[in-house]
Amino acid sequence: WSSETVAIVTGANRGIGYEIARQLAGHGLCVILASRAADRGHKAADGLREQGLNVDSHQLDVLDAASVESFEKWVVLKYGGLDILKFAWSNLPGFVAHGEYGSVRQLKKVNNAGVNFNVGSDNSVEFAEKVIATNYYGTKRMIETMIPIMKHSAFGARILNVSSRLGRVNGRRNRLGDANLREQLLRDECLSEELIDGMVVKFIEQVKQGSWASKGWPQMFTDYSISKLAVNAYTRLMVGRFSSRPEGQKIYINCYCPGWVKTAMTAWEGNISSEEGADTGVWVVLLPSQPDITGKFFAERREISF
Ligand code: NDP
Repeated sequence: WSSETVAIVTGANRGIGYEIARQLAGHGLCVILASRAADRGHKAADGLREQGLNVDSHQLDVLDAASVESFEKWVVLKYGGLDILKFAWSNLPGFVAHGEYGSVRQLKKVNNAGVNFNVGSDNSVEFAEKVIATNYYGTKRMIETMIPIMKHSAFGARILNVSSRLGRVNGRRNRLGDANLREQLLRDECLSEELIDGMVVKFIEQVKQGSWASKGWPQMFTDYSISKLAVNAYTRLMVGRFSSRPEGQKIYINCYCPGWVKTAMTAWEGNISSEEGADTGVWVVLLPSQPDITGKFFAERREISF
């Protein structure tokens, strides 16, 4: 991989995101380590640069629209500059003949930032709202904001959403009770932003009313599971949106479950390290370009069902 390939990893100052950033940089990519707190991000990036890795960092709070916008502007200014220069030059006679239109940079993006406050079948309005806002709406906000700058890639830009098996529609231990909703979520032709947003809005309303427990939602890690269910469905919805993009502007989007990982999120109770948890994510991002690898869910380097 050349340093012309830029990868953005959100929530990368620690945990799985940090490891994804470290491993992608180890494969020769230029990694932008995005972090909610600028100082924590800079510190993490400094440590990786000391190991000889090509890592930049910038503040990014996925809950804050202004922060996401200023992050996007910074990426364009710093990493789109080359593109803009090439594009301007390509208008000169001679350069057009060399086919220099567009960007030499590929953009890869890993939506890793996430939170969880559940320890079992507990719930609260504050936590449910924050988890859905960060994990689902934060991911969505990042994708919508970054799509326009992912347009010049000869090999296809990639987005990877860090999800969880807890967000599976037919999860063995954590199944969604509403059969009609399950069917709609699994049928591509039924998927829509209204369906997914409607699901999370309804859930939050029921948490506020105190009625959620009897409404058939997953009984374990409920708000976290619903946030990842929404991320998974949104990933598949985006495949349809991206399918009409012309050659050279393709975007491939997938999601993956890192497993049960020893990080702050699990109070260090997982059964694998961050390094192992990052492995499948890095593998997906680096897979050779294959148009049919989009809208998939991966774990342990293999495809799993939604
Ligand atoms: P950590 O708690 O170690 O890291 C979470 C990261 O997300 C931190 O960098 C945190 O920043 C960042 N973050 C939280 N809120 C925001 C925000 N509003 N804007 C930007 N960044 C934010 O957790 P993990 O490394 O375990 O989790 C990473 C991803 O993996 C999450 O999406 C999680 O749901 C998923 N996952 C984890 C599993 C596990 O077993 N650990 C299992 C399945 C999925 P800060 O340091 O500022 O808090």
